[in-house]
Amino acid sequence: MKLPEVISMGTLLVEVMRINRDEPLDQSGTFAGPFPSGDTPIYIDAVARLGRSAGFIGALGQDDFGRCLLNRFARDGVDFSCGKILPDHTTGVAFVTYFSDGSRKFIYHWRHAAAGQLNPTYVQPEYFKEAKWLHLTGCNLAITASARDACYQAMRYLPPGARVSFDPNIRPEVLTVEEVRELCRPVIERADVILPSKTEAMMLTGAASDEEGCRRWAAAGKVVVLKQGEQGCRIFQGDADFEVSSFPVTEVDPTGAGDAFSAGFTVALLDGLSLPEAGRFANAVGALAVTKLGPMEGTPTRQEVLDLIKGEGVG
Ligand code: ATP
Ligand code: MG
Repeated sequence: MKLPEVISMGTLLVEVMRINRDEPLDQSGTFAGPFPSGDTPIYIDAVARLGRSAGFIGALGQDDFGRCLLNRFARDGVDFSCGKILPDHTTGVAFVTYFSDGSRKFIYHWRHAAAGQLNPTYVQPEYFKEAKWLHLTGCNLAITASARDACYQAMRYLPPGARVSFDPNIRPEVLTVEEVRELCRPVIERADVILPSKTEAMMLTGAASDEEGCRRWAAAGKVVVLKQGEQGCRIFQGDADFEVSSFPVTEVDPTGAGDAFSAGFTVALLDGLSLPEAGRFANAVGALAVTKLGPMEGTPTRQEVLDLIKGEGVG
């Protein structure tokens, strides 16, 4: 078996979403899905589609929702040999509804589902022998103590020189800010790249603004990429920072853009691109990701990304 260069881990979910806006989840209505989902699964699937060897550690139930995820990984070439299919648990599910003001509301079935069973015994040292990159998110540190320990364990098994990226992806419903800071600290210390969304740098560092929070991490030696939705991103390194503009697209479904973006940034840096080039490449991946309904449905291939960049006359 070829061992993966890029590894991620966490909650495997299918997403079931309202077709119409402004339909709360305490009322009857129509849904679309299941769509393969989960923040780190979206990331790793995008890495594979962009052409890097990718592996995922997590758990599925032995049911059709689990097969939906497995089929997607198989189609796109994500290795799941270190993952588990649990006969006594159902596959994790997220229900989501969108509102006209742009907000969204989730109901997660994950902690008691297969998704919540990840623990350090899943993390085999041999699996990390060829690893060049590990991607972790705050959400998976918060779900259970054993999932968090599994993530910490993975960092210990990385070979010398392997890089770690961290997307805070904080869900304030799950834990308090103080608890989240404590859980994230070991990963932030080890991380080479941190990819916060709005308010996360502020929350995690205690700084008065995102900008100040990002500067603090950059001063500590991290590459920091602040994701800014349709405005693109801002990259901080050392005491410098610069904006990277986005690509104009029609947004159909914003869920998963951040994860696809992080995958683009990883692949670009592994390819040896400069930070401005990597920001541009990741912006293109994020832009294409929002053009289709479903969190993973818009994830582009490398060729689609290059075509978008070329069409802009840049890159
Ligand atoms: P999520 O957590 O829902 O996946 P996020 O908040 O982590 O999202 P966003 O900032 O929403 O991440 O999106 C990530 C990246 O995707 C942006 O930095 C940008 O490059 C691209 N992107 C997102 N939305 C758009 C859009 N409407 N038009 C163009 N590019 C977009
Ligand atoms: Mg995010």
